[in-house]
Amino acid sequence: MPSPASSETSMESGRDTESATVPGPILLLGAPGVGKGTQAKELVKLWNIPQISTGDLLRGNVARGTNLGKTAKEIMARGELVPDSLVDEMVAARLLEPDTARGYILDGFPRTLGQAHWLDGRLAAQIESLPVVAVSIQVNYNQLLRRITGRRNCPVCQTIYNVYMRPPQREGFCDVEGAELVQRADDTEEVFKERMRAYEALTRPVVEHYRVLGRFAEVDGDKPIAEIAAGIVSTVERLRKAA
Ligand code: AMP
Repeated sequence: MPSPASSETSMESGRDTESATVPGPILLLGAPGVGKGTQAKELVKLWNIPQISTGDLLRGNVARGTNLGKTAKEIMARGELVPDSLVDEMVAARLLEPDTARGYILDGFPRTLGQAHWLDGRLAAQIESLPVVAVSIQVNYNQLLRRITGRRNCPVCQTIYNVYMRPPQREGFCDVEGAELVQRADDTEEVFKERMRAYEALTRPVVEHYRVLGRFAEVDGDKPIAEIAAGIVSTVERLRKAA
């Protein structure tokens, strides 16, 4: 059974060894492009718990041509949200994996109040689970647009680059794998605007939901990656102590 988070972890010790903190379920919230995926990867290294990205899981389904993938493909290409019931079911299956026992980072979920209520109900039914803590990453609109339209991924190791802010050494190719970088189909300006509309209408209320519950904090996402990660770690520890 997970025990409450301890305060022993520092960024340094967390980098070298598995952290003493039991992080529990953590929600990374924020608009498209705030860096949820990048930060989730940092936290995976610090805490040795999995990142569960619903966007990645859906893209995996699209790539494998599953029924879910076939339904999701067009919806995602338009920047709209995949229906709650499909996403909830996909997350439910992922949370049954044993690597989630000490906690996990949900990246891109919940994105609607319906998904938030489903998750709250599921966690409440699990007596051994710590409550979720939610961290929202804040970045201004123009910065988000540059992040989204400049984003390129390595299809092999999934490293995320940005042609404006974090370019690879050789233009268009991954520093680690040498593979040709790819741009997500929904990382265009037009689709970004639709994703922002979906965020404001459907996901903003999720932020308010967790704010009201009191296990919520915001961090400034317009800083170096390691600094933001350090801010998230200390925020989660503070929220865990208060919970
Ligand atoms: P992301 O990689 O998180 O930006 O997600 C890419 C796309 O996948 C979104 O624009 C949605 O179409 C879909 N998606 C990801 N997560 C969810 C979710 N929790 N609920 C509904 N649709 C989602």
